[in-house]
Amino acid sequence: MPIPEDAMVSQLSAILSPDQVLSGPSVQRAYDCDAYTVDRSKPTAVVMPDSTEQVAAVVRWCVANEVPFTGRGAGTGLSGGALPALGGVVISTKRLTQILEIDLENRCLKAQAGIANKRISDSVKTEGLHFAPDPSSQTVSTLGGNIAENAGGPHTLKYGVTAQHILGVTLVDPTGEILELGGKVSGGPGFDFVSLVVGSEGTLGIVTEAWVKLTPLPTAVKTALAAFSTVRDATESVAVIIASGTIPAALEVMDKGILHALEAAFGLKYPVGTAALLLVECDSNDADSAHEIVEREMETVEAICRANRAMEISVAADEAERQRLWTARKKGVGAMGRIAPSIVTHDGVIPRSKLPDMLDFVYDVAARHGGGVANLFHAGDGNLHPCFYFDDRDPVQVKAVVEAGEEIIRRCLELGGSITGEHGIGVEKIDLMPLMFSEDDLRLQAMAKSIFNSGELCNPCKVLPNQKSCVEHKKRWRGVAW
Ligand SMILES: Cc1cc2nc3c(=O)[nH]c(=O)nc-3n(C[C@H](O)[C@H](O)[C@H](O)COP(=O)(O)OP(=O)(O)OC[C@H]3O[C@@H](n4cnc5c(N)ncnc54)[C@H](O)[C@@H]3O)c2cc1C
Repeated sequence: MPIPEDAMVSQLSAILSPDQVLSGPSVQRAYDCDAYTVDRSKPTAVVMPDSTEQVAAVVRWCVANEVPFTGRGAGTGLSGGALPALGGVVISTKRLTQILEIDLENRCLKAQAGIANKRISDSVKTEGLHFAPDPSSQTVSTLGGNIAENAGGPHTLKYGVTAQHILGVTLVDPTGEILELGGKVSGGPGFDFVSLVVGSEGTLGIVTEAWVKLTPLPTAVKTALAAFSTVRDATESVAVIIASGTIPAALEVMDKGILHALEAAFGLKYPVGTAALLLVECDSNDADSAHEIVEREMETVEAICRANRAMEISVAADEAERQRLWTARKKGVGAMGRIAPSIVTHDGVIPRSKLPDMLDFVYDVAARHGGGVANLFHAGDGNLHPCFYFDDRDPVQVKAVVEAGEEIIRRCLELGGSITGEHGIGVEKIDLMPLMFSEDDLRLQAMAKSIFNSGELCNPCKVLPNQKSCVEHKKRWRGVAW
């Protein structure tokens, strides 16, 4: 017998305080999805604990009452990870936003999981340090969400994904036990459970605190924006730059669809005839020759872009110009909000050398499914992000966008890539897991999950297919979309 909403709210309010428990239609509507808006499911209640102990108490209550629970940071996830697929309780980290300790000597910092990514870097900027993972959502997306999704970002190419920057986590496991995994010092003996938690999409418990590495800020940076008359020329340049042995800090591509959106939203102008922009950033913090290294790398990049028919290359002369060149990348997704009510940003990986053919394929898929598509993506990592824009109130359009995404992901796999680069599996790609993993792989993954999570209450219906209790959810959402 499911526990009624009133009883749930009053019992959770007794564990926390009444102002930490939200419910009712508007709350349930606000928390029924993340930024993947085509699948929705309402929670019964949303709780906002302010300590690890409170999170543990809520989880223990959920287990005792057989109520599903789902962790949530800023809700910017793009694969439905924070969606409460079976209802129940959403555990928000909104009140867990403190920096707990900064250890400059050992270049690390401990923070609560609900802190926004950028606040971590801002807090140590004057010390010449930063938290290197920089998802484009970094002004709002949280440390806990970044850990759960193993988030990447424009500078992942040089600095690596979140996994490379997490030293330890405090985890409330799915039974409500508080576990300290890892710590200030990396590389301890025994099994590496921190790495298992990073990227597990909130299915192994709720991370409440984490030790993160602090990385020196570069002492020299050079940024360029190259305009090309074809997407092929831009993407071919990417493969040649990497093959040359020069690894820029960032290599990002934006196509005409994004440029149109930027023009409509912000009046930004680019050279006439531009079909794609390639943003390149080179940086170094070499003690003796940072500027020389960056100059040399940028010369190589410029020569390659010109050889690949770049129409125009702008190199930023100072920080203000650098920020201006980044505008296209940073405001691209926001600008898309002006052209349609809904966007689904697909996420797949292919070898960089396949980018030119893959982009042709994406445009062909969009044309066949009748959807609008724009691309802005981490080209240096071979990480595609076709953004389909449409109206999610129309089931026919939803079906077309989901099918287009599946077609793109299948092609990524055929080309030797992956079903996700950084947005995770969530509910979006759960049915595609068997395309990438064998039965043995999936069995091992289920066994690894069961070390922490033997039941199906903690973020159910995510990542691993064929969870018994999820048949109804799947029927419901495919029912809406189809
Ligand atoms: C405009 C835009 C740009 C983006 N750019 C990038 C990008 O460049 N790179 C990138 O990788 N992603 C990007 N994303 C996707 C998203 O921002 C990331 O996945 C981010 O890490 C999600 O963080 P969040 O706090 O919003 O998490 P949420 O969306 O709230 O949750 C994501 C997942 O993490 C789990 N979770 C959240 N907090 C916890 C916790 N404390 N403990 C355990 N599990 C938890 C949830 O259950 C869910 O499964 C972008 C999204 C948008 C909207």
